[in-house]
Amino acid sequence: MSSAVTSSPAIRVRRVAESRLPQVDLANVPFGRVYSDHMLSARCEDGVWDEPEIVPFGDISLHPATAVLHYAQAIFEGMKAHLTDDGTPVLFRPEANWRRMNRSACRMVMAEVPEEIFLGGIRELVRLDREWIPANEHGSLYIRPFLFASDPYIGVSPSREYRFYVMTAPVGAYYEGSVSLYVTRKWIRAAEGGIGEAKAAGNYSASYYGMKEAREHGCDNVLWLDSREHRFVEECGTMNMMFVIGDRVVTPPLGGTILPGITRDSAIQLLRDQMGRTVEERPLSIEEVAGAGEAGTLHECFGVGTAAVVTPVARLTGGGVEVRLPEETPLQNELRDRLTGIRLGRRPDPYGWVDRLA
Ligand SMILES: *Cc1c(COP(=O)(O)O)cnc(C)c1O
Repeated sequence: MSSAVTSSPAIRVRRVAESRLPQVDLANVPFGRVYSDHMLSARCEDGVWDEPEIVPFGDISLHPATAVLHYAQAIFEGMKAHLTDDGTPVLFRPEANWRRMNRSACRMVMAEVPEEIFLGGIRELVRLDREWIPANEHGSLYIRPFLFASDPYIGVSPSREYRFYVMTAPVGAYYEGSVSLYVTRKWIRAAEGGIGEAKAAGNYSASYYGMKEAREHGCDNVLWLDSREHRFVEECGTMNMMFVIGDRVVTPPLGGTILPGITRDSAIQLLRDQMGRTVEERPLSIEEVAGAGEAGTLHECFGVGTAAVVTPVARLTGGGVEVRLPEETPLQNELRDRLTGIRLGRRPDPYGWVDRLA
């Protein structure tokens, strides 16, 4: 896909009177607590979108009957802007986020967001708040687009009105170091025919109980298994999972219950094309993982997602499983280097993944 910047038909901008940036230490921001000066706002009624607007970041006022507050008809996306070494803001595969957002919208019977509002709006917003992108290597500007049912109506039916916002937040590294995952045979994240492959708000609140249990067992997060047999690995939090078993990389297939990660897709392409690895997208039981652990053929296990890029797993525990992963993670290190290198414009970008906002 071309990385040419489509010039959006100028979006109306209401600028802040005074930037809050001087009060922020971009090298030390807590994740998700500090937001940049502006946000994008757009509204859709009966399938017709109003002109989007960029406005000062601030509270949203809602009628108490607003549909999303009752029935969670809401979806979101997550992406990042970086600064290249020459100071150009860049996005990574933003079209893929736009397409996924609209697949989620379709599944949740919501209005789809037009390209010029999603992509045009985000490009304009990031350009405007480019000073908020941390210039240090591990920092980035996290971009959070979200869409929700805004009809002030508590009837149980899809909303007639939707609101779309994009806010951005400077962030440092999301995860520090490796994580331990709790295997539960009881709770599930998503079932076949459900909304597991949509980036729908309800998927996250539904996972909190399992996460609470994981924390009580001293783990950072849950390794979710399938809903029928409680055996096959699905994913973890906001990451897709990859396992290096023998000389292959194995990752669960996208079968409707797993979020189709853009990092997952990018990693599979790099592993196959640039790193000469065989990647198997196939069902993987937790017994196979544990067996490979015992046999010494499980070399690495890691999560992939926008927030942390590549996150090493140190331990899997629970559900009758106890696996400790080797400390050496050569494949992850190379994959992270390659993904980060392409993002930052330090490596060639043969797939046209990088969208430069010059
Ligand atoms: C967003 C998300 C991912 C990762 O997707 P990326 O596009 O790589 O960021 C994985 N799992 C879940 C449940 C997610 O919400």
